[in-house]
Amino acid sequence: MKIDLHSHTNVSDGINSPAELVRLAKTEEISVLAISDHDTLEGWQILNASTTSSSTGKLTIVPAAEISCRTTTGMSVHILGYLFDPFDVQLTQTMSLTRDDRIPRIKKIIGLLNEAGIDISFADVARLSESAQTVGRPHLADALVARGVVSSRDQAFTEYLHNDSPFYVGHFAPTPEEAITAIKSAGGVSILAHGLAGSRGAIYTIDEIGELLAHGLDGLEVDHRDHDDAARNELRELARAFDVYATGSSDYHGVVGVQRLGMELTAPNVWEGILAQGTGCEVFTV
Ligand code: AMP
Ligand code: ZN
Ligand code: FE
Ligand code: FE
Repeated sequence: MKIDLHSHTNVSDGINSPAELVRLAKTEEISVLAISDHDTLEGWQILNASTTSSSTGKLTIVPAAEISCRTTTGMSVHILGYLFDPFDVQLTQTMSLTRDDRIPRIKKIIGLLNEAGIDISFADVARLSESAQTVGRPHLADALVARGVVSSRDQAFTEYLHNDSPFYVGHFAPTPEEAITAIKSAGGVSILAHGLAGSRGAIYTIDEIGELLAHGLDGLEVDHRDHDDAARNELRELARAFDVYATGSSDYHGVVGVQRLGMELTAPNVWEGILAQGTGCEVFTV
């Protein structure tokens, strides 16, 4: 049974539409797929709206979101929320504020790139993010590829867009603690996404992750392509010590070559725990 608890559609910065993602998941024989777009629920909601209550599809979709957070020291942290109430006022308002602020933020990054002599405009990004509710750096990366400045999303991040780059600008974001509390009060389950992915920028220490667990974080994404074996071992050990969920997921964005749906998986007993704990909404099948 293949369980993949982290994926993105083109409603945020993934490349595939929700329907295409479903088709791919079925091709990969995945049984359970969480659609966890950044700061928006619309990807899985589009699918849910087109299913009937008697639907008996083979693929279980888990309503989810990846909440973009920032610590008080300015570090970017992603918290996955599962099975929370999609109408919860605090969560929906927080995500809405985040989405809105991403537009001026991208414009600021573009301004800095222009100052450095790179010819790129917001119109380039807008053209490549028409399906997106959440505009992010990957769209800007695509625009840099389209302009011939770089040859791939990854190269755009390495050279211009990574978290520690001089062109980095943040956006409105809740703190991880606020996100954890909000997900919990909406009946959901919170998991720290790619917590030790140091290649992306600054990361927590293991002790700090322990403090988040003490604050109510429900689990850790352990198996992720941006974690080496040492990172996985540390996180797995911490999850065991705190008796919380240890998940594995593809974090699929549709970037062929580096990513594959189901490339990392979550154990069935872990998924069953998350499913039993999440009381804010129901899974559905497609
Ligand atoms: P944003 O939400 O606009 O700050 O962009 C974050 C997204 O950019 C992440 O979800 C990843 O998809 C992508 N990303 C972040 N860091 C990197 C990196 N170093 N290389 C490639 N993609 C990255
Ligand atoms: Zn992303
Ligand atoms: Fe993430
Ligand atoms: Fe993600």
